[in-house]
Amino acid sequence: MSARILDGAAVAAAIRERVAGLVRELAARGVSPRLEVILVGDDPASRSYVASKGKACQQVGIRSATHALPATASPAELSALIRRLNGDPDVDGILLQMPLPKPLDGRTFLDLIDPSKDVDGLHPLNVGLLHQGRPSFVPCTPAGVIELLEANAVPLAGCRAVVLGRSEIVGKPMAALLLARHATVTLCHTRTRDLAAVCREADLLVAAAGRAALVTAEHVKRGAVVIDVGVNRVDDAALVARLYPGDSERAAQLAKRGYTLVGDVDFNAVREVAAAITPVPGGIGPLTIAGLLQNTATAAGRRRGA
Ligand code: NAD
Repeated sequence: MSARILDGAAVAAAIRERVAGLVRELAARGVSPRLEVILVGDDPASRSYVASKGKACQQVGIRSATHALPATASPAELSALIRRLNGDPDVDGILLQMPLPKPLDGRTFLDLIDPSKDVDGLHPLNVGLLHQGRPSFVPCTPAGVIELLEANAVPLAGCRAVVLGRSEIVGKPMAALLLARHATVTLCHTRTRDLAAVCREADLLVAAAGRAALVTAEHVKRGAVVIDVGVNRVDDAALVARLYPGDSERAAQLAKRGYTLVGDVDFNAVREVAAAITPVPGGIGPLTIAGLLQNTATAAGRRRGA
């Protein structure tokens, strides 16, 4: 069996089109959504995510700007910036790119963001609403996973869903969204005993652990749907050759950039067992950005009563 590939890029393109339409409707009412992104430090992956977000905003007509602070920024500096953006009536969305460089504590600063501008859905008010089943702003990655599953008519009610990873940004909200759709949900983490056996119970397995190719064929029940959220920069040529034998494109990428992006799932092994699977790249990544655009347009409409 070779699994059906779930095309995240195609669903993301449809969401972007929907958002572009919404932005045009808002413009007709004199509203022009605006997103402000805060980037602290110079982590290359964060820089590249922020650049992609800015470009995506531009494509759908959302105004955006990035505030780049040095890794040495003080807590007072970062708090002052967030407070200024909270108080600016022309700002609809504030995104604080995670992770923050040490010793800055992400939670402290996410708590400061005005919940009505919290387009990443990480303020405790929005987290609480999600867990009560009355979602307001939902974290973009798990929201994107749900869009992909629904677009592909994957049945969720009554299914056994296993989410691998319990982060605030992916694992926990993913579990809440699946629960709200009546899945029976298990959350796994580093202390889970016999991870492979727990994962093998899943009709739907969502991997968000941040460990390259952690999920092997041994973790997957035949016929399961496997969603790979992980994005890991792998520079180990031997590992790349083992995971993608004969894949000259990957080898060339590794040689050119010094790394290649690998998911949490051993794609080539698992696709022989699963019914459907997302690739990395091209799976969940584009949906995350589309979700951010959707949340920003929604925030603008709500805040400005349009
Ligand atoms: P995180 O490090 O905050 O959380 C990882 C979770 O996985 C933790 O709860 C940990 O307990 C669990 N975990 C780690 N190793 C494990 C193991 N060996 N066995 C069992 N559980 C294990 O990471 P995160 O922010 O949730 O991100 C997870 C992955 O998803 C990363 O690769 C990240 O880059 C990726 N990500 C992708 C997108 C996207 O748009 N595609 C968005 C967000 C995150």
